[in-house]
Amino acid sequence: MYHHVKKLMYTVNIGEPDVRFGNMLLEQFGGANGELAAAMQYTIQGWNCVDDIGRRDLLMDIGTEELSHLEIVGALIRMHLKPLKTNREAAEADPLVTIAGGGGLNLFDSMGNAWTSTYLKITGELDVDLRSNIAAEARAKIVYERLIDHTQDPGTIDTLQFLMTREITHMKAFQAALDSLEKSPFSVGLLKPTPGIVDEYFNGSTGDGSEGDSDMRGPWSSSFGLRPVESEMNGGKGLSVGDIDGKIDGEDRGKQDDAQKATTSAADEAIGFNASAKKATGTAKRGAKRQAS
Ligand code: MN
Ligand code: MN
Repeated sequence: MYHHVKKLMYTVNIGEPDVRFGNMLLEQFGGANGELAAAMQYTIQGWNCVDDIGRRDLLMDIGTEELSHLEIVGALIRMHLKPLKTNREAAEADPLVTIAGGGGLNLFDSMGNAWTSTYLKITGELDVDLRSNIAAEARAKIVYERLIDHTQDPGTIDTLQFLMTREITHMKAFQAALDSLEKSPFSVGLLKPTPGIVDEYFNGSTGDGSEGDSDMRGPWSSSFGLRPVESEMNGGKGLSVGDIDGKIDGEDRGKQDDAQKATTSAADEAIGFNASAKKATGTAKRGAKRQAS
């Protein structure tokens, strides 16, 4: 269940409203990398995550915090957009918000595109979702950084600095959750990739470019067993089932050996008010055991 507390997670103060900046901030309200997208992505992943209650708790913790971030960004935007309500010149900075929305919040990005659930990356495969979340946090971080770069208002910068910082916090938590699954980094899903082809790095862009670019090699073409090969795209015959011919010698198209269902352990210690009470009665363990009892 959800409960609303009439208090912002971080106090928002601004100096002079800046309607154009308020419009840019909408990117983090109803945009692709915004706070609603983050809140919905992690929360719905969490609801789906019924066989790993430890990481489900992580997804619900962070999904809920993102909703609090949405509230903070919303408060900041309302302050900056306030002149839209009464000032014609200011209103021209965002006619959509002014005329259709009365100068208030709505789920649009900075260009007026409506928020859409297609922003969300939810695969139902926990490790794959955690990778998406790490990338989502990186995107949110860089958007906040650019917003900070476009305002001089100290109060606004304070708030954005807080929000930007928390994205790195979340990135750490998601990375730790992924690492603790102890899956090998290229083990995704259950089925094995085809040997041989899996290690071929195709040299698909060749020649010298007009911007000084040329055919380069780097660790991306020779690490993790990769080896560069001339691309079949470069005058080759093209790959076909003949190259694979159903199976390659030694190929096992079965399940990956290291593929396993995600597991988790109950937290060693509970946190917060109830935790101390539980500790006193010697039942500090939470998670699986508590759920079961
Ligand atoms: Mn956030
Ligand atoms: Mn975040």
